[in-house]
Formats: sequence, C-alpha cells, structure tokens
Amino acid sequence: MKFNNLFGGDKNGQETSTSNMVKETQYYDILEVKPGCTTDELKKAYRKLALKYHPDKNPNEGERFKLISQAYEVLSDPDKRRVYDEGGEDAIKGGGNTGPGGFSSPMDIFDMFFGGGGGFGGGRGRRQERKAKNVVHQLSLPLEDLYNGTTRKLAVHKNVICEKCSGSGSKSGKAPEKCPGCKGQGMIFRVQQLGPGMIQQIQTVCHDCQGAGERVNPADRCKNCQGKKIIKDKKIIQIHVDRGMQDGEKITLHGEGDQEPGIAPGDIIIVVDEKPHPVFKRANHDLIMTIDLELVEALCGFQKTIETLDGRQLVITMIPGEVIKPGEVKCVMNEGMPVSGDYTHRGKLIIQFNVNFPKEIPPELVATLENCLPPRNECIIPDGSEEVTLMDFDPKNHTRRRQYAHEEDDEPRGQGVQCQSH
Ligand SMILES: [Zn+2]
Ligand SMILES: [Zn+2]
Repeated sequence: MKFNNLFGGDKNGQETSTSNMVKETQYYDILEVKPGCTTDELKKAYRKLALKYHPDKNPNEGERFKLISQAYEVLSDPDKRRVYDEGGEDAIKGGGNTGPGGFSSPMDIFDMFFGGGGGFGGGRGRRQERKAKNVVHQLSLPLEDLYNGTTRKLAVHKNVICEKCSGSGSKSGKAPEKCPGCKGQGMIFRVQQLGPGMIQQIQTVCHDCQGAGERVNPADRCKNCQGKKIIKDKKIIQIHVDRGMQDGEKITLHGEGDQEPGIAPGDIIIVVDEKPHPVFKRANHDLIMTIDLELVEALCGFQKTIETLDGRQLVITMIPGEVIKPGEVKCVMNEGMPVSGDYTHRGKLIIQFNVNFPKEIPPELVATLENCLPPRNECIIPDGSEEVTLMDFDPKNHTRRRQYAHEEDDEPRGQGVQCQSH
C-alpha cells in the first residue's frame, strides 16, 4: 500500500530493523509482533501484554509475564536485537550481554517502562526514595476522546493502610514486637557441616514472620487486616484526558498508588491507549484518511463531506477542470489533531485519493470518450515486429511457476512461466 510508504513506520523516525531475515521468531511471537517491526510497534505490544499479564491482574500467568519481559528486554535494545536476529536465543544467552541466564527482573523492566521519573516499586531495584508500589492501568480510548478530551472514571484496586489499626496491625495500637523466631532478622541461618573442615551456611526466610522481622502478638492481632497492616481496597478515581493526548502517554496521580506503613505511597499511572479508528489514522498531530473517487469525479470535479472527530461536517470541493491522479495527496490545514496544551493550533488533515477506474467501457462509447481526452501518442510499428498477447499478471503465481520450471528441467522451456487468464 502506498499509504504505508508515505506515512507508515516509526513516529519518531527511528526505524530499527527493516530486514525480516531472522534466525528465530520466538521473541517476536511472544510479543505478538512481526520480525522487522518498529520500536514503536514493539513498545505498544509490550505495553499491552505486560499490563494484561501482570501478576497483579493475572496471578497464574507469572511465567508468561516473565517471557514477555525477557523478549522485550532483548528486542528493545538495538544491539541485543541484532544479536538475537542473527543468532537466536542461544546467542543472547551465551553472548555475555546479559550474563549467564541473566535477565533483569520482569518487575524492573515493567517499572522502567511504566515508572516514568519517580521512585521504583516497593522493595526492588534502584530507587531514589522508599516508596510503595505504583499501580499501572491502561485506559483505552477512541480517537474522538483524544481529539475532544474527556473525563473517565476508573476502578483501581490498591493496598491501603488499615484504618482500624492505623497500620500497626494490632488491636491495642502497639507497635509490633520483634519476631521471636528470627530475632528480628527476617531470615534464619543454619550452619551445616558438609565434611571435615567444610561448613555451609543456609539462609531461609523466617516462617513465623514471613521475613518481616516483626510480628503482632496473635491475641492482639487486628481483625480487619489480620495483622497485615494493609488491606485491599477498590477506589473509583476520575481521570481527566486532555485533548491531543497521544497513544502511550502517561497520566500520573501522585501518591494515589499502594500504601505501606512508614513509607511514601506509590503513584497511580494511567497509560493512554489509542484505539484504531475506522476512518482516520493518526500521525502525531496529523490525521490521515483515504477518499475513494470515481473516475468521473477525478476528471470532472467533485464535492465530498467529511465528518470531523467533533461531529462537524467539512465540505471539500474540486472545481471542474482540475484532475486528481490516483494516489494523489492533499491536505486541509488546522483540521488534524489538537496540539496538547495549545488551544489554537491543530495539525493537518491529510487526504489520500484512490480513483476507481471503470471495469470496462462500452465499445460504442470509446470514440466519444476519446474525443474528450488529450490526444494519444502515435505508435509506429517497425517491419518484422512480433505480435504477443497481454495477460493478467499475478506476482504470486509467477514466482511459484518459475521455481517449478527450474526444478523440472525436462519440461519444455517457456511453458514453465504461465500466467493466469480470466
Ligand atoms: Zn488493621
Ligand atoms: Zn521471624
């Protein structure tokens, strides 16, 4: 399609790989993309799948979440992607790029992708400040809503500090005591004699406190949270989507994420997902659409109406005398997407024209039609020219037949290439 050649590809112009010749496709299959996809397509696929299979939403799909993160970790890095394309999974795992079997934690990749600037999720990875986990949600919106702006309500599940015990975990409100099982370490160390002069230290998570190092006296345990200090809560939040927001853009609600006693709450991060539109394709601030014209309209002028994303009707007119060629592109200024934060400017509406040619012309009308059109170039046929027959051409059929002809050498030459005729 010409359309794709003109406007397709990466929005930021960073085409990563154009070759489809890869050794293995497994990582691409996991992310449900084609080899040779752009960085943007990759990001979008990861975003969609990581949110769908995140352990918070899909506790049984942990393995799948891990694979998705590993595939993305490799394919999102141009160097690693090249290594994988050339040598497959073995090359990646043995190449020392990630160390032996060394992928980052799926959660770290997730946090890096969605976390934006702020702290990383609770208890893992590097972090600037101790902060509870971020809650990430995807908000799928039709293009109309991104054009006009909208307000949406979203139910989010998050951890909140138990109100009954104010996060102490106990009825009395007393702070938890040091776990007697591990003396507050959270871990239990055992020394094992393996042989003469050989000892091994084994470290296990304390059973009594699940590694917390402290526990609430069972008799004093808060009934509301079972001594866990936090409870799961469902909260309805209102999200304001600005006009002109882009696919993948994040809306951060600071401090609205998970709560944990003693540390700052996490954020709620809403990721905007733009749904495909039946008429308009978006390219940053521009909108692209295709209009089909009949040949008579392309040659003799036309009027068409276009319904905008805010429900207005635009009329476009080609005055008689002007001709639209198949594939020709025109644009209407200031009828594209709004520019975020700028209430006066919009991008362009780009229109590509298809021209429907008639299947055939009644022979008795050919002469009349010819009189109306610019004259043809005379053709001079030299002596001894050969008359050949034009047939319909099907590229798929053509290649297959040719290979076949090479394989079967005894077949008379010339018959191998056969064209389909109607
Ligand atoms: Zn409680
Ligand atoms: Zn303990």
